[in-house]
Amino acid sequence: MPRIVDAFGRIGEENAFAVLARATALAAEGRDIINLGIGQPDFPTPPHIVEAAVKALRDGHHGYTPATGILPLREGVAADIHRRLGVSVSPEEVLIVPGGKVTMFMAILMFGEPGAEILYPDPGFPIYRSMIEFTGAKPVPVPIREENGFAFSAEETLSLITPRTRLVILNSPANPTGGVTPRAKVEKLVAGLAAHPHVAVLSDEIYGQMTYDGEEHVSLLAYPQIRDRLILLDGWSKTYAMTGWRMGYSVWPKPFYEAARKLAVNSYSCVNAAAQWAGLAALTGPQDCVREMVAEFDRRRKVVVEGLNKLPGVSCATPKGAFYAFPNISRTGWKAKALASALLEEAGVAVIGGPDFGVHGEGFIRLSYANSTENILKALERMGDFLASHK
Ligand code: PLP
Repeated sequence: MPRIVDAFGRIGEENAFAVLARATALAAEGRDIINLGIGQPDFPTPPHIVEAAVKALRDGHHGYTPATGILPLREGVAADIHRRLGVSVSPEEVLIVPGGKVTMFMAILMFGEPGAEILYPDPGFPIYRSMIEFTGAKPVPVPIREENGFAFSAEETLSLITPRTRLVILNSPANPTGGVTPRAKVEKLVAGLAAHPHVAVLSDEIYGQMTYDGEEHVSLLAYPQIRDRLILLDGWSKTYAMTGWRMGYSVWPKPFYEAARKLAVNSYSCVNAAAQWAGLAALTGPQDCVREMVAEFDRRRKVVVEGLNKLPGVSCATPKGAFYAFPNISRTGWKAKALASALLEEAGVAVIGGPDFGVHGEGFIRLSYANSTENILKALERMGDFLASHK
C-alpha cells in the first residue's frame, strides 16, 4: 500500500463543513433543520456581479490569466483599498487567489517549518492551527478572551513571541467570536512588533466591512512600521456574498509576493477568469448591496443576542463585527460540543461547538446569524425548549 507523507496525519479540518453535511443528511431524511452552523451570507450574489461573469464568458474570457490575476482587477483592488482605508497599494503587491483561505495556506507554508513557532488566535478560524501543524511548526495559541470583548490582547500576543516565532496571525473582525480589536490595542501591538523584526504578520481582515454600532475596522495595512512584513488577507466571499465563487486577494511585501506567485504557478495557475471579471464589477459597481446586507445582519444580530440572553444558563456578549454570536453556555451544565451535537440531533438546530475553534472555545457555541429572522427566532425557541427540558 503506498504511504502518504506524515504531514497529512497532522492536517486538521473545518468542522463547520462536517456539521453542514450532517444537517443536510438530516434534512434529506425529512427533518426540519435550521442551519446556524455555516459561515456564509444567505443572500445571493448581487445581480450586476453575476451579469459581469456572464458577459466575461460571452466576451471570450476563457483562457488562463496571469497567475497573479488580471491587471484591471489588481488595479481595482488597489483603488478599493485606497477608497476604504486611505492606504496606497501598488497593483504589483496584490495577488488574486481562489478564496481567502489560499492566502492563509500560502503564508503559513512560507513561514512554517519544524523548529518555527506561529502564533494564532484561539478561539479562531480552525484552518490556522491545522495548516501550522501541517508544516511541522509549533502552533502557539493566543487566547482570545470574553472579558476583553473578544479583542486580541497586544500584551499577551507580544509576551508569546520568542526568537523562534516566524509569523503572527491576527483576525479582526473575528470568527468565531464577532470581536473587533480597537485602535489602541492594534497600535500597542504594532509598536511592540518593532522589537521583533524577525516576525511576519498575517492580518485576516475578511470581515473588515462588517462592523456594527459605529465600531471602526482598523486595518494593519495602515501601519508603515510593519508594512514590509505584513500580509493582508481579504476577499469577496463575505463582503459580496460570493463564497462559492472562490475569489480572494492578498497584499504582500515584494519578497513574499514572489514566493506566493510561484506557489500559484505551481498549483492552480490562476483564478477562474470569469470570476475575476465579476470580482472587478463587485469593486467598481454600486456598494449599496454591501451596506444593505450589513444593515440586515445588524437587525438579526440584535434579535439573536436578545434571544440568547433569555435562554436559561446562557449569556451572550454583543458581537461588534462579522455575522457570528458566541454565547457562553458554561452555566447550562453542558459541554459545548455535546450541546452542539444534541441541539442538531434533538432540536434540529445546527450550531458549532466552541472547541472546534480551539481549546479556549470550551464553554461557548457559535451561531451564524446569516439566516432569516424567522428562522433565527424559531431556532431560539427550539433551543429554549431544549434547555428547559434537559435541566
Ligand atoms: N478567514 C476567516 C476568519 C474566515 O471565517 C473565512 C471563512 O469562513 C476565511 C478566512 C476564508 O474565506 P474564503 O471562503 O474566501 O476562503
